Amino acid sequence: MRPVKRKLKSRKAATRRSPQKAPKRTKAASRKSQSKPPRKIAAVRPLPAQPEEILFRVEGKMSTFGGPHDLGMAANEDLALFSKADLQNPKYTYLFLPASPPGTSGLGRRLNPDQYYFACRWDYAATPKEFLRRALARVENPANGRAADARPVDWGPHPSTGRVADLSPGLAAALGLNTDDIVRITISARRAIPVKPTLTMKRVGHGSSNPHAKPVIKQFIQSPNHSCRNGARIEKIVLHCTEASLAGTIEEFQKSGGRQVSAHYVIDRNGDIYQMVSDTDRANHCMGTNESSIGIEHVGTETDSLATPQAAASAALIRWLLEQYHIPPTNIFGHDFTPGYCRPGGTSCPDKLFGATHDQQTIAAWVKANV
Ligand SMILES: [Zn+2]
Repeated sequence: MRPVKRKLKSRKAATRRSPQKAPKRTKAASRKSQSKPPRKIAAVRPLPAQPEEILFRVEGKMSTFGGPHDLGMAANEDLALFSKADLQNPKYTYLFLPASPPGTSGLGRRLNPDQYYFACRWDYAATPKEFLRRALARVENPANGRAADARPVDWGPHPSTGRVADLSPGLAAALGLNTDDIVRITISARRAIPVKPTLTMKRVGHGSSNPHAKPVIKQFIQSPNHSCRNGARIEKIVLHCTEASLAGTIEEFQKSGGRQVSAHYVIDRNGDIYQMVSDTDRANHCMGTNESSIGIEHVGTETDSLATPQAAASAALIRWLLEQYHIPPTNIFGHDFTPGYCRPGGTSCPDKLFGATHDQQTIAAWVKANV
């Protein structure tokens, strides 16, 4: 299904931005764009350099797209990563104009060209659509060092343009980029899950000191297999491998008979996070130390390593948990190595998810590099 869709999309992109239709920009063309009424430009500040795990990076020529004046986009052309349902989604409404420009029905022309968005030729196997919809990228102009955060919204430009990205006109203007200038785009694990502090969080959280927002929980599916923590503090995080599919895991955790197992969180390979037990309750994931721990399951087989978006989601969740419950980063353990676990050496979990070697050093090294 997916390859067919992608082919279709790239054909559309070719129509939209093929070299025949979009004449090579010259100085005259950039003068023309400069003669447009000046856009309101948001303040741009260079972002501090920090060591981060890079999930996507591209550098090369760019152009601009989207909005009422982009006649290179068909009037009914939509976007690869967003649908009309997203017009109602409070997270995404800012990307769009309040109404469709006259004579158009597609989302491409309805984009608000002043907002910061962009398109790249995504490989959905490496960066799935659901992951991209939640990602924030850092977009830089290497020539002047300016940078801003922007959202991926579409697939493109067509390879025949020789360009690697199309930016919103507002983003290009803010970074001082003209068509065929060089742009650099990076999505790192640290910024993969947008940070959206909410009032509710501040009210119910442990004070408002947590600089990280809780990552988006796709669904809370209550597991019956939970109980009271008996007043124990949350002081460690236990990492697991499901050794089963997402559906299989959720089904198992919903059974009230049999093994009666559960975990607080289950992270799918595409980065979706499901919660099944409230943090305040005890889940049944690491016998002997359930009262004082949070359990995170990662969907994978015995031989899998973490998928890239899954690793990003896990790191974001762990960062939030560490702050929220004042857990030291040295208290993140692989299941088999957790202090207090009643059968140390009795499980292969978390298997090869965090590295090839079955020991706590492997877990600690992953935490150090990613969290
Ligand atoms: Zn486990």
